[in-house]
Amino acid sequence: MTTAYFSAHDICRGHDMGAGHPEQPGRLAAIEQGLEVVGIQDALWRCAAPEASLDAIKRVHDPFYVDELFAIAPTRGRVPLDGDTTLMAGSLPAARRSAGAAIAAVDAVMAGQAANAFCATRPPGHHAEYAKAMGFCFFDNIAIAAAHALAAHGLSRVAILDFDVHHGNGTEDVLRHEPRVLFCSSYENPLFPYTDDTCVPGKLIKTPLRAGTAGRVFRDAIERDWLGALDDHAPELILVSAGFDAHRADPLANLNLEAEDFAWVTERILDMAAHHCDGRVVSVLEGGYALDALAASAATHVQTLLTRGQR
Ligand SMILES: [Zn+2]
Repeated sequence: MTTAYFSAHDICRGHDMGAGHPEQPGRLAAIEQGLEVVGIQDALWRCAAPEASLDAIKRVHDPFYVDELFAIAPTRGRVPLDGDTTLMAGSLPAARRSAGAAIAAVDAVMAGQAANAFCATRPPGHHAEYAKAMGFCFFDNIAIAAAHALAAHGLSRVAILDFDVHHGNGTEDVLRHEPRVLFCSSYENPLFPYTDDTCVPGKLIKTPLRAGTAGRVFRDAIERDWLGALDDHAPELILVSAGFDAHRADPLANLNLEAEDFAWVTERILDMAAHHCDGRVVSVLEGGYALDALAASAATHVQTLLTRGQR
């Protein structure tokens, strides 16, 4: 078995929020270069990301919000939705591929066609709330994938693990009434989106980290907060919001992780998946804005998925 690698680079490149915006089209090219450096670009099972249906998106988002986004999407120029999220002609086609990749990756892994999967798509999703785009995100790809796994595959226990440096407020928001999903999120706080640190045992595990936190403290916190919660939940599928902006080089945050810390957390996630759900992991790109650090971190994450998936 191998690792499925979902992308739609041409369409994702069409979403461009302007010169100097950190969530830029070049992020995906950087990841491709990272895969070449570690020599795994040809070992992956390359899959074209399909477009998500509107029904699949509306499983977790307000239908009026979704319809309104399509209604206001311009054919030229940009429409600001918040201070750092703008909508242009290529935005929603890319957003539908990001969500569609996550759904198709769930299908591939649940069908046993791949051991695990990574979605190299943008825009990211974990800040998009039930009826609100924010933080570079329009649709919550990982929550859409979780809802699809529950509805289409009949699962009763799914876990979402989010190690992006920002809290996944959108994922928390859209799944807050869904008891079948355990959501664990590590993040720098205080930092956007300025969440509170309140946990809901068995449902919502928050691991706040102070500015300056490096790998040892991060690893201890993950082991302390996530592993027991996962054992209790016993997920049938693990989904990962894979943001690489906790890297020390990232310009948007202040944690001090290195690429090897992302390999470590990927190993621990795969250990838990091996224990509970035959290794089934679907990982979806979220943040990561220093291109060299993103390339190295995402490549080591995918390399770890591949190495373990081939066993
Ligand atoms: Zn982030």
